[in-house]
Amino acid sequence: MDLRSGTPLWLAEPAADPPESDLDGPLDCDVAVIGAGITGALTAWQLARDGCDVVVLDRREAGKGSTAASTALIEYELDTPLVELRRSVGRARADRAYLAAADGVRRIRQIVRESGAVCGYEELPSVYLASDTAAAEALPAECAARRELGLAVTTLSPADIANRFPFSRPAALCSDHGAQLDPVRLTAHLLRSAAAGGARIRTGVGAAVSAIQRGDRLKLAAGGGMVTARRAVLATGYESQAYLEASVASLKSTYVIATSPGQPLEHWADRCLLWETARPYLYLRTTPDARVIVGGEDEPFADAERRDALIPGKAALLAERAGRLFPDIDFTPAFAWAGTFAETSTGLPCITRLPAMPEVWLALGYGGNGITFGAVAADIICSAIGGRRHEAEGLFPLPG
Ligand SMILES: Cc1cc2nc3c(=O)[nH]c(=O)nc-3n(C[C@H](O)[C@H](O)[C@H](O)COP(=O)(O)OP(=O)(O)OC[C@H]3O[C@@H](n4cnc5c(N)ncnc54)[C@H](O)[C@@H]3O)c2cc1C
Repeated sequence: MDLRSGTPLWLAEPAADPPESDLDGPLDCDVAVIGAGITGALTAWQLARDGCDVVVLDRREAGKGSTAASTALIEYELDTPLVELRRSVGRARADRAYLAAADGVRRIRQIVRESGAVCGYEELPSVYLASDTAAAEALPAECAARRELGLAVTTLSPADIANRFPFSRPAALCSDHGAQLDPVRLTAHLLRSAAAGGARIRTGVGAAVSAIQRGDRLKLAAGGGMVTARRAVLATGYESQAYLEASVASLKSTYVIATSPGQPLEHWADRCLLWETARPYLYLRTTPDARVIVGGEDEPFADAERRDALIPGKAALLAERAGRLFPDIDFTPAFAWAGTFAETSTGLPCITRLPAMPEVWLALGYGGNGITFGAVAADIICSAIGGRRHEAEGLFPLPG
């Protein structure tokens, strides 16, 4: 599958890659992590730190799948509001999912600090704008539901919004629990740290895993040789459907632009993360060197050729819509790219053992919070492998 195209901002300047080489013979390990994107990196880092003998396998270079396309807003707020999620999956599960996501955000902060990653990490508030008056009327209930869980969130009135931004909206929610980062640099750093702790990282055609068999040990058939392991983690992103019998998610195309640096951001309160209630939603963030990244304009298909043909038109639309919010900023795209992403029907990720192979874990952080849920997945899986039960274990089964 062609996961992305165009030039993501994060690939403009090369990150210090982890020590990766192609697989050219059999390997044995304790845990095989398939996928060297952000989810695989978070998992491998934690496992290596816990003293596990880890092999990471990826058919692409590390961090060059969906992770390179990500805009990397780190939020606990799911694409499905809590009130709606309570209706679709039940109150207890919805509440636990939101709390798990909030833990995921905290966990990313902790990992960035502990690992010493230099990855443009910044903690920023997240502002969720009501796109119209009907959406504004629903925000107080959403605010109350989140507060019941102890999540710090406030409502913003039209006057509050006018004081913070050069545009008007009928209401907004402001959460003090967001962050942003450079996903390629964080991935590369975590894999370098894992490698320094003994993890072996194999990337390229030889590291493409075509099948997994059970036996005394798991046998992973890869182009360059057989990898045997006690356990495996499928951190294979949106290509994971190949390992599953039933379809678990629908694939979409989504578009992003990034401006040139040095934009005037003085009318953008706290350089907060911004998104809105409309679906598909427009979302914006900044970078430490004052670029603006704008994403959205999703299309309900994943065909790469169709997706890529739309990049120029979608880039122009994103620039125009963002320009209506911040007229002082020059939204001429310096970078434009597109990516595939997947959503389950509930909006929740899949973090579970494969039903037919309980030694194999799936770590699929579907949806707009893919990175947050990548951290949750790494935590749940590393706890289970270490013999500890995580409070969110069992919360994210395969749908159906
Ligand atoms: C445009 C865009 C914007 C996004 N914005 C955000 C955002 O703001 N915030 C957020 O939290 N999330 C966001 N997401 C989602 C997030 O980026 C993804 O959920 C996340 O990057 C997925 O990481 P991953 O490691 O699971 O997958 P990937 O980065 O795709 O890594 C999976 C790896 O597995 C490898 N692989 C697959 N199959 C095999 C195999 N058989 N053998 C060997 N290797 C294999 C692939 O080569 C790939 O490198 C966005 C996604 C897109 C596309």
